[in-house]
Amino acid sequence: MSGCDAWALSPEEIRTLLTQPSGAAPFAALQRPWLWDAGGPVLSSRARLLLRAKGLALPALEISPSADGATKLLCAFGDDRVEAVHMPRKERVTLCLSSQVGCAMGCGFCATASMGFRRHLFAGEIVAQVLTTLRACGPRHPGQLTLVFMGMGEPLHNLDNVGRAIEILCEPQGLGLSPRRITVSTSGLVPEIDALGRLSQRPLLALSLNATTDALRNELMPIGRRYPLATLAAALARFPLRARERITLEYVLLAEVNDSDADAERLADFGAAFPHHINLIPFNEHPHAPFRAPSEARIDAFAKAILARRRTLITVRRSRARDVQGACGQLVQLHAARHSQARA
Ligand code: SF4
Repeated sequence: MSGCDAWALSPEEIRTLLTQPSGAAPFAALQRPWLWDAGGPVLSSRARLLLRAKGLALPALEISPSADGATKLLCAFGDDRVEAVHMPRKERVTLCLSSQVGCAMGCGFCATASMGFRRHLFAGEIVAQVLTTLRACGPRHPGQLTLVFMGMGEPLHNLDNVGRAIEILCEPQGLGLSPRRITVSTSGLVPEIDALGRLSQRPLLALSLNATTDALRNELMPIGRRYPLATLAAALARFPLRARERITLEYVLLAEVNDSDADAERLADFGAAFPHHINLIPFNEHPHAPFRAPSEARIDAFAKAILARRRTLITVRRSRARDVQGACGQLVQLHAARHSQARA
């Protein structure tokens, strides 16, 4: 039970709770922040009372705008803090969400990993994270919104709550997002990838790959010891894709660790059995990991080596909100550091 459970109620559940013939009006009042007044939904006093008993709190937000137009948001759920990043581009906004407080996966390059795992976010907390951010930073129209579960946590480690939140966010009486505008990024939990493929509101899938040999992946991402690359590639090949849909392969480039031409060729081969798109992400340096970003010349050479091996779609993603600690987990770490300095 969290202080945000009411945000994850379906129209049907709200109807039962309020014993009203239709749950649509209170559900829409909750889920459409452009209708809110004075920072919260406009509800009858009885509805507010009943929903408060379920948990109708909204997280407090600490907002850090970045010079590149992105905004980092620190959402407080009681004593727990998670990050979201709001990234506008022209008319559209991509919102990067957290699914857990901390993370249990222990990836060697990740700032969140150094926090360890604290807990799963409840579905209502994930929905509340979206709604409060929309309210604070827009967009006003949900058709301009894209969601990516690439913030703190491994979303497939918390699939029940993430799946439930996606269902609510896709409800036509609320935000009415398309699951094709929601991406779930995983470190590679194979049974949960299969389970994700069975969701009625199935989002797009991204795999955080980052290594092309089992030896290096096991070193960088301990989950690799449970699910080797061949097992992972087989899971991606059987993942049910819609027409023209592709799986995103995310590859964080670490200088002199995973950025050789041989790595590029193995990366091209990894995706041979399924439609995919490769997203190269130069490492965003931070004090919690010893890695460096490759030079621009090496990034170009790496992309060319992939294309020389196989024709595929490649993008190079630049981290946004770098000046406000853009990599996942960094803002929370900074907050914790400030906190402990203040206490000392
Ligand atoms: S990269 Fe993702 S899965 Fe790995 S530790 Fe960080 S948050 Fe967890």
